[in-house]
Amino acid sequence: MSYANPKPMNRHHRVAQSRGGKNSGKNIVRVREDLHRAYHMLFGTEPPEEVARILSETWIDHNMVLIAVPRNHKQFFQHLITNLTRR
Ligand SMILES: [Zn+2]
Repeated sequence: MSYANPKPMNRHHRVAQSRGGKNSGKNIVRVREDLHRAYHMLFGTEPPEEVARILSETWIDHNMVLIAVPRNHKQFFQHLITNLTRR
């Protein structure tokens, strides 16, 4: 990347607006436009659990599995209980 011709950037919503994500604050991150396009080509607007499933089933070492868990401890345990009792 050169200063004379930097890569175009744009804004990504961490939680898609179609899934209730806000149009401000921590929900917005600046990303390279080409990488942003690639991300949505692979994952659309899927939630983190589905992104992890897609990566695990197709793109990474078959001996490994990726999981998505909430950063917040309270949300983490609520997520765990919800998913353990769902099956
Ligand atoms: Zn995006």
